[in-house]
Amino acid sequence: MTNPFSLAGKVALITGANTGIGQAISVSMAQAGARVICAGRSSCDETVALIAKAGGKAEYQKLELSEPTEAAAKFAACGPLDILVNNAGIIRRGDAVDFTESDWDEVMDVNLKAVFFLSQAFARSALARDAGGAIINIASMLSFQGGIRVASYTASKSGVAGITKLLANEWAAKGINVNAIAPGYISTNNTAVLQADPLRNQSILDRIPAGHWGAPADIGDTAVFLASKAAKYIHGAILNVDGGWLAR
Ligand code: NAP
Repeated sequence: MTNPFSLAGKVALITGANTGIGQAISVSMAQAGARVICAGRSSCDETVALIAKAGGKAEYQKLELSEPTEAAAKFAACGPLDILVNNAGIIRRGDAVDFTESDWDEVMDVNLKAVFFLSQAFARSALARDAGGAIINIASMLSFQGGIRVASYTASKSGVAGITKLLANEWAAKGINVNAIAPGYISTNNTAVLQADPLRNQSILDRIPAGHWGAPADIGDTAVFLASKAAKYIHGAILNVDGGWLAR
């Protein structure tokens, strides 16, 4: 019997694969049978070793995303892929009245412009090979909510939701599934400061129906589903993996 959740024979590239959610997605996809290209501006040795230890296949590809068009050209040289996960992301905090142009541009370049141009490079290759594929973008609760003191992050993640739907509209009939995952509060380096602040941590927990933070693997396993045959009729979805946060 074939397993509709298997990624056997597929090649997946995950950006920001050295840590946090990107590392978990890499491990989950390798567990599901994919060969994983762990892309990062930092070394992904730890992720590659975790996968190798579990008997999976992985390799490291250096990929800096702060210059998105250069990154897309380098990405295009990575060879044919079946799955692209646009996971890498940054955040800058500041009151809107004081927010700087560099805090706007740096976040938009990595979180939105690179997502679009990597997706474009992925689709050009897939369409030329008539191969189909899956793109999974990592969005946020701030694809739906406003947030506070994170203007460029909110703009970028709202934009990720928008281009996920736009690209799905253009490519669904061509066999490329474009979807996004919107994580809630997930324990990573990115959120360590929030977890370490007892008041902030409690106020977050009080609002999460599940009553606890999410684990990076919660996102990894959802990404496997969206990349698999089981999700072949899902296009343009922004799937909340948030312990119920948005249902509240
Ligand atoms: P993280 O631990 O801070 O990881 C962010 C990743 O992005 C790292 O691999 C980082 O590389 C990479 N990155 C940053 N700038 C880059 C650049 N210029 N070029 C290439 N890679 C770059 O954060 P995370 O929590 O795992 O977040 C992963 C994604 O999930 C992000 O898009 C984030 O916005 C989203 N998200 C996270 C949460 C959460 O609760 N954790 C919630 C909603 C959405 P370095 O390690 O080298 O900096």
